[in-house]
Amino acid sequence: MTSTAEMQFLLGEICAEVRETREHTGCAKLSQRVLEAFAAVPRHAFLPEALRPAAYINRPLPIGHEQTISQPYIVALMTELLETEAEDVVLEVGTGSGYQAALLGRLVRQVYTLEIIAALAWQASGRLRDLGLGNVEVRQGDGHGGWPEHAPFDAIIVTAAAPAVPPALIEQLKPGGRMLIPLGPRHGGQELQLLRKDALGRISRKVVLPVVFVPLTGGAQS
Ligand code: SAM
Repeated sequence: MTSTAEMQFLLGEICAEVRETREHTGCAKLSQRVLEAFAAVPRHAFLPEALRPAAYINRPLPIGHEQTISQPYIVALMTELLETEAEDVVLEVGTGSGYQAALLGRLVRQVYTLEIIAALAWQASGRLRDLGLGNVEVRQGDGHGGWPEHAPFDAIIVTAAAPAVPPALIEQLKPGGRMLIPLGPRHGGQELQLLRKDALGRISRKVVLPVVFVPLTGGAQS
């Protein structure tokens, strides 16, 4: 199968899963702009050489350092639920391979992404540079504190599971902004939540669906 055919097959599977889960997630279909961005980012480029043949299977995969690149369906769904617009500035906590950041980089004006493991931050930064994504900045650091120099953000995406929403991330979300974060214990019982900050700074929350993410380390857990 060619890489394009594999991508089309994967997108078909993702769209079917999005339809099947619409009653939980509130998302019945992916928008054209998310589909186009997804099709334009080569997932294999974010994987270790040995795992590249599995890049277009709808599964999470290991990326070293006991971390994972998330399942393509989850990446696409989270990207859609962030409701990004072309002029947005987005913060990601948990760069990992850099794949989610690359996808967001095609959709918004600027992405800032934080990764606690130095080797992953360094690798992701190189990949993003090689792909010409000059609007994605990677920094090694603990995402619990957010990235105050670039706040406030139109959207924040956390790609590791926390026991509670780090207060700095709520502070750094713009009024009108959206945040996606998996919440729950290290093993089992996690749920993806969508938070919205209204014009008066009030936060509302919606549970999207049960998920399994690696833990958010650092902060008070270290
Ligand atoms: N978004 C990534 C991608 O597209 O490949 C997948 C992220 S992986 C599921 C979660 C990442 O969060 C790991 O790379 C992990 O090292 C990172 N992480 C965990 N705790 C963190 C923290 N406090 N601050 C920043 N990154 C953290």
